[in-house]
Amino acid sequence: MKLSPHSSPAEPADLLIRMHNQVGAAVDVTGHYRQARWYCHGCGESSEFPAEDIVSFTRRKANDHAGQCRAAYHHLHR
Ligand SMILES: [Zn+2]
Repeated sequence: MKLSPHSSPAEPADLLIRMHNQVGAAVDVTGHYRQARWYCHGCGESSEFPAEDIVSFTRRKANDHAGQCRAAYHHLHR
């Protein structure tokens, strides 16, 4: 499994939690305690409602996603 700057980018300044999916791509929880969102650098999936969830809900959703996602798309653009 080869990681790239796309699937494992530099940590953003507002990073709260970084998880990794089944193949090592970063799944980031960013924002603030009461306004957090998640984004998967493997497949591009993200929070349905950006920055509306408190971090505990966002963390659970991101972790559920990371546990199932097997994508490591190297040239995905936001
Ligand atoms: Zn994913």
